Amino acid sequence: MSSRNIPVKKTIALVAHDHKKDELLDWIEKHKIELKKHQLLATATTGKLIEEKLKVKVDRVLSGPLGGDQQVGAMIANGDIQMVIFFWDPMEAQPHDSDVKALLRLGVVWNIPMACNPATADFVLESQLMTQNYQAEITDYTYYLNRKIN
Ligand code: PGA
Repeated sequence: MSSRNIPVKKTIALVAHDHKKDELLDWIEKHKIELKKHQLLATATTGKLIEEKLKVKVDRVLSGPLGGDQQVGAMIANGDIQMVIFFWDPMEAQPHDSDVKALLRLGVVWNIPMACNPATADFVLESQLMTQNYQAEITDYTYYLNRKIN
C-alpha cells in the first residue's frame, strides 16, 4: 500500500450542477473563513458565481460539460487536487454524465475526500483532520500495471 500526503493547505475543487449551485453557494458562505485558508478551484460557471456572489477567489477550469470535469479528474490523478466538493444533481441527467462518473471514479481511485451533499461536506470540513497532514492510502495497482496481456 502506498500513500499520498494530503497537506493542511489543500487545493479544493468546488463543482455544482445548475440546480445545485444555490446549495453550494450557501454551503461556501457558511464555511467561507475555513475555505479561504485553502486554494480553491471550480468549474467555470460555478467559479464565476462564487466570485460574483461571495467575493471568494477561485481558480477556474472549463465548464463541466466542456471538459471541466475531466480537467478536475486529471488534476486528482496528478495529485494536484486533494479534496472535492461536488454537488451533482440526482434528479436530472446531464449531457456529460460520463464525465461526472469519471470524476467520481477518480476521487475513489486516488482516495481523496469527496463530498457530494451539504451534510457530508459539513462533516468533512469540520473534521479535525482538516488541520493535519494526512496520509491517504492508495491501493497498490502494480498488479494491474504489470498484468500479462496474452
Ligand atoms: P459549471 O460545470 O460549473 O461550468 O456549470 C459544472 C459541472 O461540472 O457540470
